[in-house]
Amino acid sequence: MRGCTCKFLNLHKLNFDIIMATIRFKALEALMTRQAVPVEQPLKKTSEYFAENVFDKRKMKEFLSKEAFETVNDAVENGTRIPRRIADQVSSGMKAWALSKGVTHYTHWFHPLTGATAEKHDAFFEPTTSDGVIESFDGGRLVQQEPDASSFPNGGLRNTFEARGYTAWDPSSPAFIFDLTLCIPTIFVSYTGEALDYKSPLLKSLALLNDAAVDVCQMFDKNVTKVHATLGWEQEYFLVDSALYMARPDLMLTGRTLMGHASAKDQQLEDHYFGTIPTRASAFMRDFEIEAYKLGIPIKTRHNEVAPNQFECAPVYEEANLAVDHNMLLMDVMRKVAKRHNFKVLFHEKPFKGVNGSGKHNNFSMATNTGVNLLSPGKNPKSNMQFLTFMVNTIKAVHENADLLRASIASSGNEHRLGGSEAPPAIVSVFIGDYLTKVLDEIETRVSEKKMSPDEKTELKLDIGRIPEILLDNTDRNRTSPFAFTGNRFEFRAVGSNANCASPMTFLTLAVADQLKKFKTEVDVKVETGIKRDEAIFQVLKDYIISSKPIRFDGNGYGQEWTAEAEKRGLSNVKETVKALKAFVSDETKSLCARHKIFTERELVARHEIKVEHYTKKLQIESRVLGDLATNHIIPTVYKYQNQLIENVRGLKQVLDSKDFDQIAGIQLQTIKEISGRIALIKIKDKNMIEARKKANAVEDIYEKARLYFEEVKPYLSEIRYHIDHLELIVDNEIWPLPKYRELLFAR
Ligand code: ADP
Ligand code: MG
Repeated sequence: MRGCTCKFLNLHKLNFDIIMATIRFKALEALMTRQAVPVEQPLKKTSEYFAENVFDKRKMKEFLSKEAFETVNDAVENGTRIPRRIADQVSSGMKAWALSKGVTHYTHWFHPLTGATAEKHDAFFEPTTSDGVIESFDGGRLVQQEPDASSFPNGGLRNTFEARGYTAWDPSSPAFIFDLTLCIPTIFVSYTGEALDYKSPLLKSLALLNDAAVDVCQMFDKNVTKVHATLGWEQEYFLVDSALYMARPDLMLTGRTLMGHASAKDQQLEDHYFGTIPTRASAFMRDFEIEAYKLGIPIKTRHNEVAPNQFECAPVYEEANLAVDHNMLLMDVMRKVAKRHNFKVLFHEKPFKGVNGSGKHNNFSMATNTGVNLLSPGKNPKSNMQFLTFMVNTIKAVHENADLLRASIASSGNEHRLGGSEAPPAIVSVFIGDYLTKVLDEIETRVSEKKMSPDEKTELKLDIGRIPEILLDNTDRNRTSPFAFTGNRFEFRAVGSNANCASPMTFLTLAVADQLKKFKTEVDVKVETGIKRDEAIFQVLKDYIISSKPIRFDGNGYGQEWTAEAEKRGLSNVKETVKALKAFVSDETKSLCARHKIFTERELVARHEIKVEHYTKKLQIESRVLGDLATNHIIPTVYKYQNQLIENVRGLKQVLDSKDFDQIAGIQLQTIKEISGRIALIKIKDKNMIEARKKANAVEDIYEKARLYFEEVKPYLSEIRYHIDHLELIVDNEIWPLPKYRELLFAR
């Protein structure tokens, strides 16, 4: 047998077996000497440097004329257009600010449908015939750029002869400096005007929600002239040491481990959640938070999550569009800062089998220009009626659009998570807690279709007036619900950690807006027939409470009983991504989106196509990587171990008499047989997996191809893994080539 693991350091003595182990052991060795990277804490208070890299109102005031400042402000507040003349002024102000901070380049920063953000940097400098080189950036370049759209996912929305796409300035999200580049948030559309990104439909939905919600608010308070959606996301992630990460090709190429036997200890002692943050992780957090603060991202919370090496951060909520940008930006910041700390951040929804995956809870509410949170109970019957109106309409919207909301969070990564008994199930339901259930029950039983007596009305209003403010602390914490009311907001918990929040927020705000518009119409119709407005509101709410009842569920979302019960209630339970995505192109979605001009049918079809193809490609990559690892890493290692065993048995045969040999070598022979059996199965399954891939690849139709990948390729991923994970338990630890789960999850 070979000596201790440190033998690999003696490079000249290395034999092949040991080289096999070096990557893993070298990575582990690197870890032994890791120190927390000291954070260069600015000696200032956060408030002194918060948003210093953002072209916010304060900088606009400093660098823009009064006219330009007011025009941009009006565009942000009211969505008015910015004339070209003013855009010229703004660009020159932005340039002056950026140059004063040593910035050399600018870029339009956008969210194509790749899932990442995109940027193409251009230098400010411009050669001129007379003055040599000058710094230049005019309104034209601020307002619009023309990146080639053909290399971004476009779902057939561009033909090669119109490959251009446009990025167009979104003044509602302020420009910022990142890595000495001035980044200008933009939307991205095709030459023919179709959305090629996440942001343009989001902005449309948010404007629609504003319209619809203001109209409804006006029933209660004439001072409301603006409503914006609020979003507070909670971002979960794993940290893995970069050396171990490099030794795991599956993590590098797919973002998740495709093999790895469970660690003897992982999260069963529940000792990680909210525990003391490990030193290196905490240094990393402080470092990225400082970067985030400079960018105006108001990170407020950090803590350990349930799984080992899993963490969470959350900002104070913001206007939804800005919050979406901030989430994408923060993910970038985290990736970059992690490098300094020798970490890799894993945003994949399920990097490790058997321990919790990561989500990105989207806390959603609506806020008025009068400073009211529309999902927060108020102090008197009137404000509580408004609260109930928005709450019940949101529940109704989720009920009516459950499939679309499910589609909005569907991805190959999230497929591992939803329904996996650690995240919400794939069944969309709404949790509101005991207290509000009672309130809704009251409305259901007390409000009648006939005219109510003044006494009845007073009583009802009194009851509603009693909805306590302390509700916030009283709402039970049901962790199994995908859409939970948590006192002053709804928390959409089924969103994947890697997702762009724009997708769920677009469809959620669209659904709520559509619902609010219907509500307003129904109330108005009743009022026209002579019913008092308050009573009309109660009657419509009562109808909604009854009709949306099936979506309300406060019990255990992980239980088998819920699956059966949900089916009885007619709720969908779509676990498969490709099936879930179909809701994007259902007749209901097409008509909803057309009604409000959020997506044309062509755009929906394109988006659906992009998502389906993305799913297929992810599976294709995973399947290739697994085949590669099995063939080139695992099987050769296992053969070596098997040869050792065979050698050993041969030796035993020489030294033992035949009776003792049968007894003593028997167990080893069994192991040799088991190894042979598993290797054979891995090889056969790998071959079959390749065949299945070939068959799927030959299919033109992308939906059929995705189906084949899901039904015929995907099962091999777990079947092959099953045998590899068992071999990991048998083979000599010293030659196992890939960092093991215990190392990935506990090495710090
Ligand atoms: P928990 O883990 O208890 O859900 P966190 O503090 O981790 O709570 O996250 C709660 C998130 O909800 C924060 O981002 C917070 O700003 C956000 N939030 C609070 N109120 C609202 C609101 N009215 N609208 C949107 N988000 C909100
Ligand atoms: Mg939460």
